[in-house]
Amino acid sequence: MNYQKLADMLFPEVDKTPADYEAMFPQRNLPEGAKVTRLGPSPTGFIHLGNLFGAFADERLAHQSGGVFFLRIEDTDDKRFVDGAVEIIINSLRFFGIKFDEGATIEGEVGDYGSYTQSRRKAIYQCFAKKLISEGKAYPCFLTEDEISEIRNQQEAAKQTPGIYGKWALSRNLSFEEIEAKISQGQPYVIRLKSDGDMSLPEDQIKRFEIEDAIRGTLSMPVNDQDTVILKTNGTPTYHFAHVVDDHLMRTTHVVRGAEWLPSLPIHVELFEKLGFEPPVYCHTAQLMKIGEDGNKRKLSKRKDPELSLDYYRKLGYHPAAVREYLLTILNSNFEEWRIANPDADIEEFEFTTEKMSNSGALFDLNKLNDVSKDVLLKISVSDLFDFLKSWAAEFRPELFHIFEDRKYLETILDIGRHEAKPRKDHIYAEQIVDNISYFFDDMFRIQEDFPPEAKGDAVEIISRYLEGYCHSDDQETWFNKIRQIAVDMGYAAKPKDYKKHPEEYKGHVGHVSTVIRIAVMGRSQSPDVWEIQQILGEERTIERLKNCL
Ligand code: GLU
Repeated sequence: MNYQKLADMLFPEVDKTPADYEAMFPQRNLPEGAKVTRLGPSPTGFIHLGNLFGAFADERLAHQSGGVFFLRIEDTDDKRFVDGAVEIIINSLRFFGIKFDEGATIEGEVGDYGSYTQSRRKAIYQCFAKKLISEGKAYPCFLTEDEISEIRNQQEAAKQTPGIYGKWALSRNLSFEEIEAKISQGQPYVIRLKSDGDMSLPEDQIKRFEIEDAIRGTLSMPVNDQDTVILKTNGTPTYHFAHVVDDHLMRTTHVVRGAEWLPSLPIHVELFEKLGFEPPVYCHTAQLMKIGEDGNKRKLSKRKDPELSLDYYRKLGYHPAAVREYLLTILNSNFEEWRIANPDADIEEFEFTTEKMSNSGALFDLNKLNDVSKDVLLKISVSDLFDFLKSWAAEFRPELFHIFEDRKYLETILDIGRHEAKPRKDHIYAEQIVDNISYFFDDMFRIQEDFPPEAKGDAVEIISRYLEGYCHSDDQETWFNKIRQIAVDMGYAAKPKDYKKHPEEYKGHVGHVSTVIRIAVMGRSQSPDVWEIQQILGEERTIERLKNCL
């Protein structure tokens, strides 16, 4: 067979050679050791934590080494394409601090290695498919869906590995004339790789290859033996082919991707070899897992776990710095230790490595994220916190605009308890913060809890006496002494421990009395210091609330 003649017949419109593309996309001029990474999402409109997890690793590897991180849109599967998805990807990742140096952007493409959108690279894929055909390493396959399922049935009956390979690859040995005839009859065809793997060998003689994965170490796998499709009937590439051609021409040095791609690795390795390209360093990340309802680890699922979606964090108003900090704790096993040693260092100073990435399943835990968030929020200035909450509200809770009208008031509220030796850690995410502080705003203030049973019957009298003696300029000690006096006068213990010792002698203790006041002023029994809150609320509002309660 004259393969060059076949290649020319199949791809008459290809006017460039692989050498032309090699020249158009030369080796990048980067410092020694600089890594080139990429994120290759499909524009399905759903961007999830796994994408962010991978993007984070990509971003760190590239930027830590003075390299390049680019965004490639993998849109060859048009069934899954959703309008506006590219904007969603870029905006969601940008929100979490992931910035690309190159590739698809909202304004168009940036960089010298494009197009970065696979659907615009058809001519390139065709050129390299043509090269493989011309070297006898790929061939057109005319098998129909029906024929393929018939083959599968026979393979199942004979207990053989399913797929198109060896003797099942019925189009492998067609002559030039047969191929020409089929094409002139308009028969559709795909282009398949002519794999070297040999399925007919007994298990123990199947060839294996070894490859270093930067996360998993040396992997040993059987070589590929399937005549994998590289171009579909409409001429678009499969993921396998596009990955190999793109990552070669875009000069990607490190491919960070999910472990779900491990089974395809033999195909990719064979494709790199047949095309004569150097493969990148693969970094197959662990799946994101969570502890499921039954207490066992399971994969995060799109259907069951809303927290898989990045939108979940944006809508609830998690601060991006908190999400990033938390992701690093699951990305790199030595991050937490580093953070303890460097509590105030910028996260960028941490040296991220693939060796410290887990290969067995990264456990995602919302409670842990919440704990991390509490600490991270304490390090953010109130002024930045104010701005963050305001932009969150503008997007998700526009009806809250009024709480941002008095900047000083809200900042004072947000600052409560932050400067103590043991600072308050009650703020986690915007939605919850707004709820935490809602009582500072009359329209959101509600009595949410009952008075404590020990003092319920006396509530009206407690509040009346408190109001009577109320003096807004009292210092904290004078203020508390007044409450203690009310308690003692009304038959409550001045100290909780006295009540605990002799409960029969008292109605309750001073804490029950102050809880009545706390509920009247704040609507809830758990809150920061009442005196401090009254000072922020102001005299008028405090008195009004107490009166309303009567
Ligand atoms: N388009 C692939 C995906 O959505 C990208 C995989 C890769 O990074 O190679 O999972």
